[in-house]
Amino acid sequence: MTTTIAHWVNNKSFTGTSTSTAPVTNPASGVVSGEVALASVDDARVVIDAAAAAFPAWRDTSLAKRTEILFRFRELLNERKSELAAIITAEHGKVLSDALGEISRGQEVAEFACGIPHLLKGGYSENASTKVDVHSVRQPLGPVGIISPFNFPAMVPMWFFPLAIAAGNTVVLKPSEKDPTASLWLAELWKEAGLPDGVFNVLQGDKVAVDELLTNPKIKSISFVGSTPIAQYVYATGTAAGKRVQALGGAKNHAIILPDADLDLAADAMVNAGFGSAGERCMAISVAVAVGDIADDLVAKIAERAATIVTGEGTTTAEMGPLVTKAHRDKVASYVDAGEAAGATVVLDGRTVSPAGDNVADGFWLGPTLFDHVTPEMSIYTDEIFGPVLAVVRVDTYDQALELINANPFGNGTAIFTNDGGAARRFGNEVEVGMVGINVPIPVPMAYYSFGGWKASLFGDTHAHGTEGVHFFTRAKAITTRWLDPSHGGLNLGFPEND
Ligand code: NAD
Repeated sequence: MTTTIAHWVNNKSFTGTSTSTAPVTNPASGVVSGEVALASVDDARVVIDAAAAAFPAWRDTSLAKRTEILFRFRELLNERKSELAAIITAEHGKVLSDALGEISRGQEVAEFACGIPHLLKGGYSENASTKVDVHSVRQPLGPVGIISPFNFPAMVPMWFFPLAIAAGNTVVLKPSEKDPTASLWLAELWKEAGLPDGVFNVLQGDKVAVDELLTNPKIKSISFVGSTPIAQYVYATGTAAGKRVQALGGAKNHAIILPDADLDLAADAMVNAGFGSAGERCMAISVAVAVGDIADDLVAKIAERAATIVTGEGTTTAEMGPLVTKAHRDKVASYVDAGEAAGATVVLDGRTVSPAGDNVADGFWLGPTLFDHVTPEMSIYTDEIFGPVLAVVRVDTYDQALELINANPFGNGTAIFTNDGGAARRFGNEVEVGMVGINVPIPVPMAYYSFGGWKASLFGDTHAHGTEGVHFFTRAKAITTRWLDPSHGGLNLGFPEND
């Protein structure tokens, strides 16, 4: 039996009037587990109107009260995260430990947002002019829209909504239609934490829902995460409608391995960053650039490790789950076919994987796949594959490796593996990428720093969370003040003066 996955408005489930739905599938079994509502414009307006109606009271709710609710949300999430992890694994497919990992990274943003009284403190200048003082405050924007991708159904929304809510905004979250249930679980948690009606709402849907968020004048900002073409569209449409937009896009993350690197450490890192979450991470490493004469050893070490990865149902002890949908699995497999046809060496072939688990015959499986001798014109190099496919490119020098990265249209994450501090420092300085790891393969910044790529990996000026996140969800106001003073002429409440 399938369940109906509805919207969430005013702390209640809302079915809406649209009869359009999309199937939600367990990727490990291939079984359809639910039908998610796809909002009509009218449905979207009901959700947006609720967020707009809740805004005036929420913006004026004291910082003390707002933080009390945030702390409670954080505590409840921490106590009950295994429930959320099970939902993520059932709809996304990633293994339970990985689902718990994404929740922890989201929880860190909720913890950062608990410090909102400090984060919102403004400045004050006494006597900017004679007896004139100036102070600055940061105020919330209003109802804000968050549109998230399938690959992190809990973490990506949590990059944004804890800070948005803490700063006094109300939220409409539009999750991916592929794994929409995590958002409803989070909504219930907010309710339990005491968040008033209408402050956190969930709008299920596709392009119709997104377009209404992008153009409805009641929505003041858009935080989007997804593929680059849609990020570009969201940025163009949202800004044309006068909204503040941060639109995070796709990636093709390279790691450089220099000849002096610890090859065991580098091989471990390539396996974790290449195949973790079946490569469906925007910070996954999909290209390992081997510099100098280390390539044969490096490829052998990666292959040896990757061959031991157990691919299977996320609820078992497997280390890597299935891909999210059959269509995505087939697309990734077609890239493997294309890489082979283009002449790259298939060192490890995921197309022949036998998944572990009881009910996996119709799941969307592809095992770890390793290519060597990949060249920059091959589609396995040029395209974001978003699957467990790691390409090794061989170059002679650091400069050639850097050139490859800087010529790439994406600029989300990158890493260098070396024991040479000077080379690492130079890389940090020269590389045109937003997040850089030195002997760290997936350099996702902590919540108190900001997350975001460069070039085609982010459209807009502001990265997610950290100080930039606080700035995105607030706008500055400067207030200039003069109070009459008995010595200042005009109204004089002081004692009469005797000359
Ligand atoms: P996607 O672009 O297909 O979907 C993202 C969101 O946009 C979803 O909510 C979806 O419903 C909506 N959407 C899809 N098509 C649309 C359209 N034509 N018009 C309006 N809205 C539309 O992305 P996805 O497949 O869910 O996620 C994977 C992508 O997200 C990858 O490219 C990955 O790199 C990227 N990603 C980037 C980051 C980052 O931080 N830069 C993080 C996670 C994922």
